Amino acid sequence: MKKPLIIFALFLISQISIADGFDGITLKTTKVSGNVYMLEGVGGFAGGNLAVSAGDDGLLLVDDQFAGMNDKIKAALKGIDGGDLRFVLNTHWHGDHSGGNALFSQQAIIIAHDNVRKRLQAPQENLFGKSTAQPKEAWPLITFDESLTLHMNGEAIDFIHFPNGHTDSDGVVFFTKSNVIHTGDHFFVDIFPFVDLNSGGNVISYTKNVKSLIDQMPEDVKIIPGHGRLATLDDYKRFYDMLISTTDYVKTKLDAGMTLEQIQQAGFPEKWNSWNAGFIKTKVWILFIYESLLRQ
Ligand SMILES: [Zn+2]
Repeated sequence: MKKPLIIFALFLISQISIADGFDGITLKTTKVSGNVYMLEGVGGFAGGNLAVSAGDDGLLLVDDQFAGMNDKIKAALKGIDGGDLRFVLNTHWHGDHSGGNALFSQQAIIIAHDNVRKRLQAPQENLFGKSTAQPKEAWPLITFDESLTLHMNGEAIDFIHFPNGHTDSDGVVFFTKSNVIHTGDHFFVDIFPFVDLNSGGNVISYTKNVKSLIDQMPEDVKIIPGHGRLATLDDYKRFYDMLISTTDYVKTKLDAGMTLEQIQQAGFPEKWNSWNAGFIKTKVWILFIYESLLRQ
């Protein structure tokens, strides 16, 4: 088991700040376009990627990683000239995207989909382990069902819910003038994605959401993925192609009467071997697809 996965699992199980696990990690700041910056962990698993809007109206942060990354995020925000932090948006409930909420709520308003609040209020269990209910300070103060727009730093920032994809609590953030999109975990660059079946996620609707996002994106859009490097529309189309092709592959085998174990044993055609490089290995990705197909 790789170290990042252990840190991630430990966090989800214990839900306590494990600052020691983040000692060797730094945050890299990249100016993406317009008012938008990307912060990403280097040297270990810091959690998901962050987006920052900076300008006359102050700072807006998308996702806040783990509680143990809090001081590092604050230091990175100080390095961006944009005043005080006013809003934190959570792209979904997972601890590597909302783990800093209880600390950031002391200085900013947290906004997320209705189901982020619901899931943080109760114990959760998924592939990575169990988590306890979060304290009140971690719950988003403002929630929405379908969409919400913030008018800030000279642009409309649209926060839009995509149903039953990575979880049932996903929101994608569109920086409309800067031409940047933070997809949350509706995008893992060049690796199989985690689709949280226990949290209302489903590979089939996840794929549908990705297609809908691609159809809405301008050719020159810059994409901040939940995990992985800053990406382009071509990168996202390649991800979509993988989702479609691997799902078709599993469906064909399922229709031919093969069991989950038999499909896992057979594996994918060699073309998809390199996608096995992240948290989610081939056998688990086949399981996600198989279960999602059965739930259709
Ligand atoms: Zn996630």
